[in-house]
Amino acid sequence: MPGTFRMALLFFCVFLLFDFSNSLPVEDADIIYLWDDYASNNIDDDIDNVIDISDLDSQAYGSPKNESGDAISEWTETSLMNPEEMGSYLEGDILIPNLSRNGMRDKTSRWSKGIIPYVIDSSFNQDQRDTIRKAIADYHRLTCLRFVPHQKEADYIIIKNTKTGCWSSVGRIGGRQEVNLQSPGCVSKKGTVLHELLHAIGFMHEQSRPERDDYVTIQYNNVKPGAEINFKISDKKNTNDFGIGYDYNSVMHYSEFAFSKNSKRTIEPKVRGIK
Ligand SMILES: [Zn+2]
Repeated sequence: MPGTFRMALLFFCVFLLFDFSNSLPVEDADIIYLWDDYASNNIDDDIDNVIDISDLDSQAYGSPKNESGDAISEWTETSLMNPEEMGSYLEGDILIPNLSRNGMRDKTSRWSKGIIPYVIDSSFNQDQRDTIRKAIADYHRLTCLRFVPHQKEADYIIIKNTKTGCWSSVGRIGGRQEVNLQSPGCVSKKGTVLHELLHAIGFMHEQSRPERDDYVTIQYNNVKPGAEINFKISDKKNTNDFGIGYDYNSVMHYSEFAFSKNSKRTIEPKVRGIK
């Protein structure tokens, strides 16, 4: 796991430890709560400390789709893209459930004290369960986040493979929430599990960072028609890098061929020698 990723998680964890008393979401159905605005120390103002994806309208919502499952079922280690990049959801693998009547917006928040109750569905085989447990072990070894077996907690994640695609919501959405890891494609690499769990923890994609155009060039000419949404930049006022610089090696960074229509690169580094 790259050092900067560890650093980012460390910052995130430190923040969790000090800030959970006031990070519970207020009642506002228009916004998604991910984390507070660490950089501006604006930690008491819940309204300012949100990720607002309302501008994505209906594109921000999804339900599992067969075409994603078909693509992932054909995924192999030699495929150009990672399985988590094959979904037809927001940025490939972020699922915002259709919970509200207008179907436009939703909210999430952080996990209290950095503790994430979880269940691994019995439908995974032993090897697949081992891959998930190794990913969880990485979090326990490298961060202060703790995945604990679900008991009676109201909010928890269920890791399952009964739907198509690799996907998760971003952050805690309240109650039971699913992290889907279609098998075997989404549990072939520990990195895919780490990636989806990071969404569930509350992180977006690295290449969505506000300053990403300083680091990579998006080759829109090579992007599948309709997939441009996957390269949208997050609004600076609503996202937080926790003081950690752009990380080409982040497990949250898409690969160079993500959403390519022609097997040519869609993401190219601006810095020489970077892969
Ligand atoms: Zn993702």
